[in-house]
Amino acid sequence: MKRGDELTVEIESLTPEGAGVARVDSMVMFVRDGVHGDRVRVRVARVRKNFVESVILDVLEPSASRVVPRCPYFGECGGCRLQHVDYGAQAEFKRRHVLDALERIGGFRGIEVRPTIAAESPYLYRNKMEFSFGERWLAKEELERQMMGRNEAPADRFAVGLHIPGRFDKVLDIEECWLQSEASVRIVNEVRAFCRGRSLPIYSTRTHTGYLRHLAIRQSARTGDLMVNLVTSDERPEVMQALTDHLRTVEPSITTVVNNITARKSQVAFGETETVYFGPGYITETLGARRYRVSANSFFQTNTAQAERLYDAAREAAELRREDVVYDLYSGTGTIALHLAGAVERVVGVEAIEAAVEDARRNAELNGVANCEFVVGDLKDRLTRDTGWMRSQPAPSVVVLDPPRAGCHEGVLIALARLGPDRIVYVSCNPATQARDVQKLCSIAPYVPGAAQPVDMFPQTGHIENVLQLRLRRG
Ligand code: SAH
Repeated sequence: MKRGDELTVEIESLTPEGAGVARVDSMVMFVRDGVHGDRVRVRVARVRKNFVESVILDVLEPSASRVVPRCPYFGECGGCRLQHVDYGAQAEFKRRHVLDALERIGGFRGIEVRPTIAAESPYLYRNKMEFSFGERWLAKEELERQMMGRNEAPADRFAVGLHIPGRFDKVLDIEECWLQSEASVRIVNEVRAFCRGRSLPIYSTRTHTGYLRHLAIRQSARTGDLMVNLVTSDERPEVMQALTDHLRTVEPSITTVVNNITARKSQVAFGETETVYFGPGYITETLGARRYRVSANSFFQTNTAQAERLYDAAREAAELRREDVVYDLYSGTGTIALHLAGAVERVVGVEAIEAAVEDARRNAELNGVANCEFVVGDLKDRLTRDTGWMRSQPAPSVVVLDPPRAGCHEGVLIALARLGPDRIVYVSCNPATQARDVQKLCSIAPYVPGAAQPVDMFPQTGHIENVLQLRLRRG
Protein backbone atom coordinates (compact mmCIF):
# COMPACT_ATOMS: atom_id res chain seq x y z
CA MET A 1 0.00 0.00 0.00
CA LYS A 2 1.28 3.47 -0.76
CA ARG A 3 0.28 7.06 -0.36
CA GLY A 4 -2.51 8.10 -2.71
CA ASP A 5 -3.95 4.59 -3.11
CA GLU A 6 -7.73 4.51 -3.09
CA LEU A 7 -9.71 1.58 -1.72
CA THR A 8 -12.95 0.57 -0.03
CA VAL A 9 -12.87 -0.57 3.61
CA GLU A 10 -15.24 -1.54 6.40
CA ILE A 11 -14.59 0.19 9.70
CA GLU A 12 -14.54 -2.15 12.68
CA SER A 13 -13.82 0.03 15.67
CA LEU A 14 -12.99 3.50 16.91
CA THR A 15 -10.10 5.19 18.72
CA PRO A 16 -10.60 7.74 21.52
CA GLU A 17 -9.25 10.36 19.10
CA GLY A 18 -12.20 9.76 16.81
CA ALA A 19 -10.55 7.73 14.06
CA GLY A 20 -12.13 4.61 12.64
CA VAL A 21 -10.07 1.43 12.61
CA ALA A 22 -10.13 -0.91 9.64
CA ARG A 23 -8.04 -3.92 8.72
CA VAL A 24 -6.59 -4.23 5.25
CA ASP A 25 -4.88 -7.60 4.78
CA SER A 26 -2.95 -7.69 8.03
CA MET A 27 -2.41 -3.94 8.22
CA VAL A 28 -4.22 -1.67 10.69
CA MET A 29 -5.70 1.38 9.00
CA PHE A 30 -6.82 4.48 10.88
CA VAL A 31 -9.54 6.32 8.99
CA ARG A 32 -9.93 9.94 9.96
CA ASP A 33 -13.47 10.66 11.24
CA GLY A 34 -14.57 7.10 10.49
CA VAL A 35 -17.23 5.32 12.55
CA HIS A 36 -17.41 1.60 13.32
CA GLY A 37 -19.95 0.11 10.92
CA ASP A 38 -19.17 2.52 8.06
CA ARG A 39 -18.31 1.26 4.58
CA VAL A 40 -16.15 3.97 3.06
CA ARG A 41 -14.01 4.81 0.06
CA VAL A 42 -10.68 6.12 1.38
CA ARG A 43 -7.41 7.54 0.15
CA VAL A 44 -4.17 6.53 1.88
CA ALA A 45 -2.56 9.62 3.38
CA ARG A 46 0.41 8.16 5.26
CA VAL A 47 2.09 4.78 5.43
CA ARG A 48 3.92 3.84 8.60
CA LYS A 49 5.69 0.66 9.61
CA ASN A 50 2.81 -0.78 11.63
CA PHE A 51 -0.18 1.15 10.38
CA VAL A 52 -1.67 3.25 7.61
CA GLU A 53 -3.62 6.51 7.90
CA SER A 54 -6.33 7.42 5.46
CA VAL A 55 -8.99 10.01 4.79
CA ILE A 56 -12.56 9.41 3.68
CA LEU A 57 -13.43 10.25 0.07
CA ASP A 58 -16.96 8.93 0.19
CA VAL A 59 -19.17 7.27 2.77
CA LEU A 60 -20.70 4.41 0.77
CA GLU A 61 -22.80 2.99 3.60
CA PRO A 62 -22.93 5.03 6.78
CA SER A 63 -22.84 3.29 10.14
CA ALA A 64 -26.09 3.36 12.12
CA SER A 65 -24.07 5.24 14.76
CA ARG A 66 -23.00 8.02 12.39
CA VAL A 67 -24.55 11.45 13.00
CA VAL A 68 -23.98 14.91 11.56
CA PRO A 69 -21.60 16.91 13.83
CA ARG A 70 -23.31 19.88 15.38
CA CYS A 71 -20.28 22.14 15.31
CA PRO A 72 -19.05 23.90 12.15
CA TYR A 73 -15.42 23.52 13.31
CA PHE A 74 -15.58 19.74 13.66
CA GLY A 75 -12.44 18.18 12.20
CA GLU A 76 -10.41 21.38 12.54
CA CYS A 77 -10.73 22.26 16.20
CA GLY A 78 -9.85 18.94 17.76
CA GLY A 79 -11.88 19.64 20.87
CA CYS A 80 -14.81 17.27 20.31
CA ARG A 81 -13.48 14.44 18.21
CA LEU A 82 -16.47 12.11 18.60
CA GLN A 83 -19.20 14.50 17.44
CA HIS A 84 -19.80 12.37 14.37
CA VAL A 85 -20.75 9.41 16.59
CA ASP A 86 -24.23 9.08 18.08
CA TYR A 87 -24.10 9.81 21.83
CA GLY A 88 -25.48 6.41 22.87
CA ALA A 89 -22.76 4.74 20.79
CA GLN A 90 -20.12 7.00 22.42
CA ALA A 91 -21.23 5.80 25.87
CA GLU A 92 -21.04 2.16 24.82
CA PHE A 93 -17.67 2.72 23.14
CA LYS A 94 -16.32 4.15 26.39
CA ARG A 95 -17.62 1.18 28.38
CA ARG A 96 -15.79 -1.15 26.00
CA HIS A 97 -12.64 0.91 26.38
CA VAL A 98 -12.76 0.38 30.17
CA LEU A 99 -13.45 -3.35 29.74
CA ASP A 100 -10.60 -3.76 27.22
CA ALA A 101 -8.13 -2.04 29.55
CA LEU A 102 -9.13 -4.23 32.51
CA GLU A 103 -8.83 -7.37 30.40
CA ARG A 104 -5.77 -6.61 28.31
CA ILE A 105 -3.68 -4.50 30.69
CA GLY A 106 -5.06 -5.68 34.02
CA GLY A 107 -5.32 -9.32 32.99
CA PHE A 108 -8.75 -9.58 34.66
CA ARG A 109 -11.45 -11.88 33.34
CA GLY A 110 -15.14 -11.67 33.99
CA ILE A 111 -15.16 -8.21 35.58
CA GLU A 112 -18.56 -6.60 35.35
CA VAL A 113 -18.38 -3.22 33.63
CA ARG A 114 -21.73 -1.49 34.03
CA PRO A 115 -23.25 0.65 31.32
CA THR A 116 -21.66 4.10 31.22
CA ILE A 117 -23.51 6.73 33.22
CA ALA A 118 -24.13 9.03 30.26
CA ALA A 119 -24.62 12.77 30.51
CA GLU A 120 -28.13 14.15 30.32
CA SER A 121 -26.79 17.00 28.23
CA PRO A 122 -24.12 15.80 25.82
CA TYR A 123 -23.54 19.43 24.75
CA LEU A 124 -23.23 22.72 26.67
CA TYR A 125 -21.95 20.87 29.73
CA ARG A 126 -18.73 22.61 30.74
CA ASN A 127 -18.65 25.10 33.61
CA LYS A 128 -15.30 26.46 32.45
CA MET A 129 -13.81 27.31 29.07
CA GLU A 130 -10.43 28.79 28.27
CA PHE A 131 -10.01 30.55 24.98
CA SER A 132 -6.75 31.96 23.63
CA PHE A 133 -5.89 35.08 21.72
CA GLY A 134 -3.60 34.49 18.78
CA GLU A 135 -2.93 34.65 15.12
CA ARG A 136 -5.87 33.22 13.23
CA TRP A 137 -5.51 29.79 11.73
CA LEU A 138 -6.57 29.92 8.12
CA ALA A 139 -8.99 27.36 6.85
CA LYS A 140 -8.06 25.61 3.63
CA GLU A 141 -10.12 27.86 1.35
CA GLU A 142 -8.59 30.94 2.85
CA LEU A 143 -5.09 29.57 2.39
CA GLU A 144 -5.92 29.02 -1.26
CA ARG A 145 -7.25 32.54 -1.60
CA GLN A 146 -4.08 33.82 -0.03
CA MET A 147 -1.90 31.87 -2.37
CA MET A 148 -3.72 33.52 -5.26
CA GLY A 149 -2.29 36.78 -3.97
CA ARG A 150 -5.28 38.13 -2.07
CA ASN A 151 -3.53 38.77 1.20
CA GLU A 152 -5.38 39.87 4.29
CA ALA A 153 -4.33 42.80 6.37
CA PRO A 154 -2.56 41.67 9.56
CA ALA A 155 -5.37 43.17 11.66
CA ASP A 156 -7.67 40.57 10.17
CA ARG A 157 -5.56 37.80 11.63
CA PHE A 158 -6.87 38.64 15.10
CA ALA A 159 -8.40 35.53 16.65
CA VAL A 160 -9.86 34.43 19.93
CA GLY A 161 -10.73 30.81 20.13
CA LEU A 162 -9.14 27.41 20.54
CA HIS A 163 -5.72 26.16 19.59
CA ILE A 164 -5.38 24.00 16.51
CA PRO A 165 -4.13 20.58 17.66
CA GLY A 166 -0.36 20.49 17.32
CA ARG A 167 -0.14 24.15 16.31
CA PHE A 168 0.42 26.12 19.46
CA ASP A 169 1.09 29.30 17.52
CA LYS A 170 -2.24 29.22 15.70
CA VAL A 171 -5.74 29.84 17.00
CA LEU A 172 -9.00 28.81 15.40
CA ASP A 173 -11.30 31.82 15.60
CA ILE A 174 -14.40 30.49 17.33
CA GLU A 175 -17.75 32.18 16.81
CA GLU A 176 -19.81 29.21 17.87
CA CYS A 177 -19.08 26.48 20.39
CA TRP A 178 -21.35 23.85 21.90
CA LEU A 179 -19.35 23.11 25.01
CA GLN A 180 -20.29 25.75 27.56
CA SER A 181 -23.36 27.89 26.96
CA GLU A 182 -24.86 30.43 24.63
CA ALA A 183 -23.86 33.23 27.01
CA SER A 184 -20.27 32.00 26.88
CA VAL A 185 -20.20 32.25 23.09
CA ARG A 186 -21.76 35.71 23.17
CA ILE A 187 -19.03 36.83 25.57
CA VAL A 188 -16.28 35.49 23.31
CA ASN A 189 -17.75 37.38 20.38
CA GLU A 190 -18.20 40.60 22.37
CA VAL A 191 -14.64 40.45 23.71
CA ARG A 192 -13.30 39.88 20.21
CA ALA A 193 -15.21 42.85 18.80
CA PHE A 194 -14.15 45.09 21.71
CA CYS A 195 -10.46 44.19 21.51
CA ARG A 196 -10.29 44.40 17.73
CA GLY A 197 -12.13 47.69 17.79
CA ARG A 198 -9.46 49.15 20.06
CA SER A 199 -6.62 47.45 18.21
CA LEU A 200 -5.36 45.87 21.40
CA PRO A 201 -2.24 43.80 20.65
CA ILE A 202 -2.20 40.05 21.05
CA TYR A 203 0.59 38.63 23.16
CA SER A 204 3.08 36.78 20.99
CA THR A 205 4.75 33.60 22.19
CA ARG A 206 7.63 34.31 19.80
CA THR A 207 8.50 37.89 20.69
CA HIS A 208 6.91 38.00 24.17
CA THR A 209 5.31 41.33 23.48
CA GLY A 210 1.66 42.31 23.30
CA TYR A 211 -1.18 42.33 25.81
CA LEU A 212 -4.03 39.86 25.29
CA ARG A 213 -3.37 36.25 26.30
CA HIS A 214 -6.47 34.26 27.32
CA LEU A 215 -10.15 34.61 27.99
CA ALA A 216 -11.52 32.23 30.62
CA ILE A 217 -15.20 31.91 31.40
CA ARG A 218 -16.60 30.12 34.42
CA GLN A 219 -20.29 29.55 34.78
CA SER A 220 -22.04 27.76 37.59
CA ALA A 221 -24.42 25.04 36.47
CA ARG A 222 -26.48 25.53 39.60
CA THR A 223 -26.43 29.13 40.82
CA GLY A 224 -26.14 30.93 37.50
CA ASP A 225 -22.98 32.79 38.59
CA LEU A 226 -20.89 33.82 35.59
CA MET A 227 -17.26 34.95 35.65
CA VAL A 228 -15.21 36.55 32.90
CA ASN A 229 -11.45 36.41 33.42
CA LEU A 230 -9.18 38.20 30.96
CA VAL A 231 -5.58 37.01 31.18
CA THR A 232 -3.09 39.63 30.04
CA SER A 233 0.65 40.25 30.13
CA ASP A 234 0.41 43.57 31.96
CA GLU A 235 -2.08 45.78 33.74
CA ARG A 236 -4.15 48.36 31.82
CA PRO A 237 -6.88 49.43 34.25
CA GLU A 238 -8.67 51.79 31.85
CA VAL A 239 -8.98 49.05 29.22
CA MET A 240 -10.25 46.56 31.78
CA GLN A 241 -12.76 49.01 33.20
CA ALA A 242 -14.13 49.85 29.77
CA LEU A 243 -14.36 46.17 28.86
CA THR A 244 -16.12 45.40 32.14
CA ASP A 245 -18.66 48.18 31.60
CA HIS A 246 -19.28 47.05 28.05
CA LEU A 247 -19.71 43.37 28.98
CA ARG A 248 -22.06 44.16 31.83
CA THR A 249 -24.26 46.13 29.45
CA VAL A 250 -24.43 43.49 26.74
CA GLU A 251 -24.48 40.46 29.05
CA PRO A 252 -26.20 41.39 32.31
CA SER A 253 -26.00 37.81 33.60
CA ILE A 254 -22.26 38.31 34.28
CA THR A 255 -21.71 38.32 38.04
CA THR A 256 -17.97 38.98 38.24
CA VAL A 257 -15.10 40.22 36.04
CA VAL A 258 -11.42 39.71 36.88
CA ASN A 259 -8.07 40.35 35.23
CA ASN A 260 -5.23 37.89 35.74
CA ILE A 261 -1.81 39.21 34.88
CA THR A 262 1.15 37.06 33.98
CA ALA A 263 4.45 37.86 32.34
CA ARG A 264 5.47 34.19 32.24
CA LYS A 265 6.35 32.69 28.91
CA SER A 266 4.37 29.50 29.33
CA GLN A 267 0.91 29.57 27.77
CA VAL A 268 -1.31 28.85 30.75
CA ALA A 269 -4.35 30.91 31.64
CA PHE A 270 -3.10 31.58 35.13
CA GLY A 271 -1.92 34.88 36.58
CA GLU A 272 0.56 35.80 39.30
CA THR A 273 -1.61 38.74 40.25
CA GLU A 274 -5.31 39.30 39.95
CA THR A 275 -7.48 42.40 39.99
CA VAL A 276 -11.23 42.23 40.44
CA TYR A 277 -13.17 44.75 38.30
CA PHE A 278 -16.68 43.73 39.18
CA GLY A 279 -18.42 41.44 41.66
CA PRO A 280 -16.90 39.18 44.30
CA GLY A 281 -14.05 37.71 42.20
CA TYR A 282 -15.40 34.16 42.43
CA ILE A 283 -18.43 32.13 41.49
CA THR A 284 -20.38 29.90 43.82
CA GLU A 285 -21.10 26.39 42.59
CA THR A 286 -22.88 23.55 44.34
CA LEU A 287 -21.97 19.92 44.02
CA GLY A 288 -24.22 17.47 45.81
CA ALA A 289 -25.11 18.98 49.16
CA ARG A 290 -22.01 21.23 49.26
CA ARG A 291 -21.29 24.77 48.18
CA TYR A 292 -17.98 25.86 46.69
CA ARG A 293 -16.32 29.16 46.08
CA VAL A 294 -14.49 28.87 42.80
CA SER A 295 -12.11 31.66 41.89
CA ALA A 296 -10.33 32.17 38.57
CA ASN A 297 -7.33 30.05 39.48
CA SER A 298 -8.86 27.35 41.59
CA PHE A 299 -9.33 23.83 40.31
CA PHE A 300 -12.88 22.60 39.97
CA GLN A 301 -14.44 19.67 38.12
CA THR A 302 -15.55 21.05 34.74
CA ASN A 303 -18.82 19.12 34.38
CA THR A 304 -20.83 19.75 37.54
CA ALA A 305 -23.76 17.41 36.85
CA GLN A 306 -21.53 14.47 35.92
CA ALA A 307 -19.07 15.15 38.77
CA GLU A 308 -22.01 14.67 41.13
CA ARG A 309 -22.80 11.34 39.54
CA LEU A 310 -19.15 10.32 39.60
CA TYR A 311 -18.90 11.07 43.30
CA ASP A 312 -22.23 9.30 43.93
CA ALA A 313 -20.79 6.25 42.15
CA ALA A 314 -17.68 6.48 44.35
CA ARG A 315 -19.85 6.76 47.46
CA GLU A 316 -21.87 3.72 46.41
CA ALA A 317 -18.71 1.70 45.70
CA ALA A 318 -17.34 2.67 49.14
CA GLU A 319 -20.32 0.99 50.85
CA LEU A 320 -19.91 3.43 53.72
CA ARG A 321 -20.76 2.73 57.33
CA ARG A 322 -21.10 5.31 60.08
CA GLU A 323 -17.90 4.15 61.82
CA ASP A 324 -15.74 4.27 58.67
CA VAL A 325 -12.54 6.29 58.51
CA VAL A 326 -11.87 7.31 54.92
CA TYR A 327 -8.60 8.46 53.36
CA ASP A 328 -9.19 10.55 50.23
CA LEU A 329 -5.87 10.35 48.39
CA TYR A 330 -5.15 12.92 45.64
CA SER A 331 -7.88 14.99 47.25
CA GLY A 332 -7.48 18.20 45.20
CA THR A 333 -9.81 20.84 46.61
CA GLY A 334 -11.55 18.29 48.83
CA THR A 335 -14.70 17.68 46.82
CA ILE A 336 -14.74 13.89 47.22
CA ALA A 337 -13.90 14.15 50.93
CA LEU A 338 -16.77 16.60 51.46
CA HIS A 339 -19.14 14.46 49.41
CA LEU A 340 -18.50 11.48 51.72
CA ALA A 341 -18.01 13.24 55.04
CA GLY A 342 -21.67 13.27 56.08
CA ALA A 343 -21.90 9.49 56.00
CA VAL A 344 -18.83 8.53 58.06
CA GLU A 345 -16.82 9.13 61.21
CA ARG A 346 -13.88 10.92 59.65
CA VAL A 347 -12.19 11.76 56.33
CA VAL A 348 -8.53 12.62 55.79
CA GLY A 349 -7.50 14.08 52.44
CA VAL A 350 -3.92 14.07 51.15
CA GLU A 351 -2.87 16.34 48.28
CA ALA A 352 0.44 17.62 46.91
CA ILE A 353 -0.55 21.17 45.95
CA GLU A 354 -0.69 23.47 48.92
CA ALA A 355 -3.12 25.95 47.36
CA ALA A 356 -5.55 23.09 46.69
CA VAL A 357 -5.31 21.98 50.31
CA GLU A 358 -6.00 25.54 51.45
CA ASP A 359 -9.09 25.55 49.22
CA ALA A 360 -10.15 22.18 50.64
CA ARG A 361 -9.91 23.46 54.22
CA ARG A 362 -11.84 26.59 53.32
CA ASN A 363 -14.48 24.50 51.53
CA ALA A 364 -14.90 22.32 54.61
CA GLU A 365 -15.32 25.42 56.74
CA LEU A 366 -17.75 27.03 54.29
CA ASN A 367 -19.92 23.92 54.56
CA GLY A 368 -19.62 23.60 58.30
CA VAL A 369 -17.94 20.20 57.96
CA ALA A 370 -15.84 19.44 61.02
CA ASN A 371 -14.83 15.80 60.49
CA CYS A 372 -12.50 16.37 57.51
CA GLU A 373 -8.81 17.05 57.73
CA PHE A 374 -6.37 17.76 54.91
CA VAL A 375 -2.67 16.96 54.76
CA VAL A 376 -0.26 18.54 52.27
CA GLY A 377 2.33 16.29 50.69
CA ASP A 378 3.45 14.05 47.89
CA LEU A 379 1.80 10.68 48.44
CA LYS A 380 4.86 8.73 47.54
CA ASP A 381 6.49 10.25 50.65
CA ARG A 382 3.38 10.69 52.79
CA LEU A 383 2.61 6.98 52.61
CA THR A 384 6.16 5.66 52.82
CA ARG A 385 8.73 7.52 54.90
CA ASP A 386 7.04 10.72 56.00
CA THR A 387 4.13 9.06 57.80
CA GLY A 388 4.06 10.96 61.08
CA TRP A 389 0.60 12.36 60.19
CA MET A 390 -0.86 8.86 60.27
CA ARG A 391 0.00 8.36 63.91
CA SER A 392 -2.52 11.00 64.92
CA GLN A 393 -5.16 9.46 62.64
CA PRO A 394 -7.14 6.27 63.05
CA ALA A 395 -6.33 3.62 60.42
CA PRO A 396 -8.58 3.87 57.36
CA SER A 397 -11.27 1.32 56.68
CA VAL A 398 -11.83 2.86 53.23
CA VAL A 399 -9.36 4.53 50.85
CA VAL A 400 -10.52 6.54 47.84
CA LEU A 401 -7.90 7.15 45.16
CA ASP A 402 -8.28 9.74 42.40
CA PRO A 403 -4.84 10.12 40.83
CA PRO A 404 -3.93 12.14 37.72
CA ARG A 405 -3.75 10.45 34.29
CA ALA A 406 -0.37 8.89 34.98
CA GLY A 407 -1.88 6.81 37.78
CA CYS A 408 -0.23 5.95 41.09
CA HIS A 409 3.44 5.75 41.92
CA GLU A 410 4.38 2.13 42.65
CA GLY A 411 5.46 3.06 46.19
CA VAL A 412 1.94 4.38 46.84
CA LEU A 413 0.42 1.05 45.81
CA ILE A 414 2.82 -0.96 47.97
CA ALA A 415 2.16 1.26 50.98
CA LEU A 416 -1.56 1.06 50.36
CA ALA A 417 -1.44 -2.74 50.26
CA ARG A 418 0.40 -2.69 53.56
CA LEU A 419 -2.14 -0.29 55.05
CA GLY A 420 -4.78 -2.86 54.08
CA PRO A 421 -8.09 -0.94 54.20
CA ASP A 422 -11.19 -3.08 53.87
CA ARG A 423 -12.35 -1.24 50.73
CA ILE A 424 -10.46 0.74 48.12
CA VAL A 425 -12.35 2.86 45.61
CA TYR A 426 -10.22 3.76 42.62
CA VAL A 427 -11.60 6.73 40.66
CA SER A 428 -9.67 7.16 37.43
CA CYS A 429 -9.60 9.36 34.36
CA ASN A 430 -7.38 6.89 32.52
CA PRO A 431 -8.54 3.26 32.22
CA ALA A 432 -5.07 2.09 31.11
CA THR A 433 -3.17 3.27 34.20
CA GLN A 434 -6.05 2.23 36.42
CA ALA A 435 -5.93 -1.32 35.06
CA ARG A 436 -2.14 -1.41 35.53
CA ASP A 437 -2.35 -0.14 39.13
CA VAL A 438 -5.21 -2.43 40.12
CA GLN A 439 -3.36 -5.42 38.69
CA LYS A 440 -0.33 -4.44 40.79
CA LEU A 441 -2.38 -3.98 43.97
CA CYS A 442 -4.13 -7.30 43.56
CA SER A 443 -0.79 -9.05 43.03
CA ILE A 444 0.64 -7.85 46.36
CA ALA A 445 -2.43 -8.01 48.61
CA PRO A 446 -5.62 -10.12 48.46
CA TYR A 447 -7.88 -7.48 46.93
CA VAL A 448 -10.73 -8.55 44.69
CA PRO A 449 -12.21 -6.12 42.16
CA GLY A 450 -15.97 -5.56 42.20
CA ALA A 451 -18.01 -4.00 39.41
CA ALA A 452 -16.64 -1.11 37.37
CA GLN A 453 -18.78 1.97 36.78
CA PRO A 454 -17.77 4.25 33.91
CA VAL A 455 -19.07 7.83 34.09
CA ASP A 456 -18.98 10.13 31.07
CA MET A 457 -17.72 13.52 32.16
CA PHE A 458 -16.68 14.67 28.69
CA PRO A 459 -19.24 13.87 26.00
CA GLN A 460 -17.97 14.24 22.39
CA THR A 461 -14.42 13.41 23.51
CA GLY A 462 -12.72 10.07 24.03
CA HIS A 463 -12.22 10.67 27.75
CA ILE A 464 -13.88 8.47 30.34
CA GLU A 465 -13.82 8.27 34.13
CA ASN A 466 -14.15 4.92 35.82
CA VAL A 467 -14.94 3.93 39.40
CA LEU A 468 -13.72 0.54 40.57
CA GLN A 469 -14.20 -1.03 43.96
CA LEU A 470 -11.61 -3.36 45.50
CA ARG A 471 -12.40 -5.39 48.56
CA LEU A 472 -9.93 -7.08 50.88
CA ARG A 473 -10.49 -10.80 51.09
CA ARG A 474 -9.92 -11.88 54.66
CA GLY A 475 -8.66 -15.19 56.01
N1 SAH B 1 -10.12 14.27 43.85
C1 SAH B 1 -10.05 15.60 43.30
C2 SAH B 1 -8.81 15.89 42.45
C3 SAH B 1 -8.31 14.81 41.56
S1 SAH B 1 -7.13 15.38 40.39
C4 SAH B 1 -11.33 15.91 42.55
O1 SAH B 1 -12.16 15.04 42.35
O2 SAH B 1 -11.53 17.05 42.18
C5 SAH B 1 -5.65 14.65 41.02
C6 SAH B 1 -5.00 15.43 42.14
O3 SAH B 1 -3.83 14.73 42.54
C7 SAH B 1 -4.53 16.83 41.78
O4 SAH B 1 -5.10 17.73 42.69
C8 SAH B 1 -3.01 16.77 41.93
O5 SAH B 1 -2.47 17.97 42.45
C9 SAH B 1 -2.82 15.65 42.92
N2 SAH B 1 -1.54 14.94 42.88
C10 SAH B 1 -0.84 14.56 41.76
N3 SAH B 1 0.25 13.86 42.11
C11 SAH B 1 0.26 13.77 43.46
C12 SAH B 1 1.13 13.15 44.40
N4 SAH B 1 2.21 12.48 43.99
N5 SAH B 1 0.84 13.26 45.71
C13 SAH B 1 -0.27 13.92 46.12
N6 SAH B 1 -1.15 14.52 45.26
C14 SAH B 1 -0.89 14.45 43.96
